[in-house]
Amino acid sequence: MLSVTVPYGRHAIDDADLSSVAAALQSDRITQGPRIEQFEEALAAAVGARYSVAVSSGTAALHLAALAAGIGPGDILLTSPITFVASANCALYCGAQPDFVDVDPLRVALDPEALEAYLQKPRRAGRPRAVVPVHFAGHPADIERIAAIAKARGLIVIEDACHALGATWTDSAGTTHRVGDGSHAQMAVFSFHPVKHVTTGEGGAVTTNDRALRDRLRSLRSHGIERDPKLLRQREGPWYYEMQSLGYNYRITDFQCALGSSQLAKLDEFLARRREIAARYDSAFRGHPLLEPLAQPARSRSAYHLYVLRLRGACASRRREVFDALLEAGMGVNVHYIPVSWQPYYQDRFGFRRGEFPHAEDYYRRAVTIPLYPALSDTQVTWVIDTVSSVVERVAAVASNV
Ligand SMILES: *Cc1c(COP(=O)(O)O)cnc(C)c1O
Repeated sequence: MLSVTVPYGRHAIDDADLSSVAAALQSDRITQGPRIEQFEEALAAAVGARYSVAVSSGTAALHLAALAAGIGPGDILLTSPITFVASANCALYCGAQPDFVDVDPLRVALDPEALEAYLQKPRRAGRPRAVVPVHFAGHPADIERIAAIAKARGLIVIEDACHALGATWTDSAGTTHRVGDGSHAQMAVFSFHPVKHVTTGEGGAVTTNDRALRDRLRSLRSHGIERDPKLLRQREGPWYYEMQSLGYNYRITDFQCALGSSQLAKLDEFLARRREIAARYDSAFRGHPLLEPLAQPARSRSAYHLYVLRLRGACASRRREVFDALLEAGMGVNVHYIPVSWQPYYQDRFGFRRGEFPHAEDYYRRAVTIPLYPALSDTQVTWVIDTVSSVVERVAAVASNV
């Protein structure tokens, strides 16, 4: 069994987090208490949106966002193949069709030109209704252009912002936006899984500026049940509630939200440390003949959820050797992501084939994710840089001798 000494991502929990959770657990309400709304308000403020609805996971947030948007049978939801499967699965949960639009090779995010081309000539029967751009690795996608295309074609935009809490970008008029602020998309989805920027264990949220969407999301989070007397059809008595739509139990608990608020208070600190580490990696790897880091798009600041290297030169076709050697050295490397269109379920059910999304697939074959999280020490960062550099040089030297 290999022992990984430095994982690719890790949560950072301190004493303040522990005492917030302990206080929540000692209170009267450990599930639906006041800390949920407090966390929702703090999150909305952090991203600059009017509302947020916290739920049990990022996947639940994607599902409810698609449902609240009215996505259903006959509809097509478009996303990028380079993402976690949940970004596409949310279409399936609603009875809609998922489909993919290739990535732009620089951002590795949904390419607005490919989106426009798709909408002019859809590949399958159905009505394109929603687009789910992913802010890959924490670098903002070109949301301004994607939103303009979506608006012209009547599509809803749901940002998968699970990598991008705290990322910012500047629009063509010079206004700076925080990802998830609702300025260009109807909704944005976040995850609080332990590898993400802030954690609640499992957890997620949708942010929006639309009050009606907020109300729908809240209702769907808890079985579609309404208790507000103003919204009920009948008035049977104080015990009375009505199930008015088919919802789920996607609630998050009070003590998870206690952790979330405590973590969120450290978001700026976490982001600063992630950016500091990414800058060290950038200066070590930018221009390296065997490595090509993802570039932060112009006029934006990444939230650096992931640090991805693309192998090139003699290492371009030797990802497996490089990956194995890094793992052997104790580095918790990873690959984000296998194109969703390659997943057996997607191939069997929808007939996706390898070769359909050339930019996504070329990226995937060369990608390696190296460690990036706030608790990584300067010594560990140096070790990562030295180990990656010597491994790629060794693999390239072996390649030139065969
Ligand atoms: C983490 C993640 C999700 C899912 O979030 P969970 O909280 O794990 O359900 C969805 N999309 C992307 C891009 C993610 O990184």
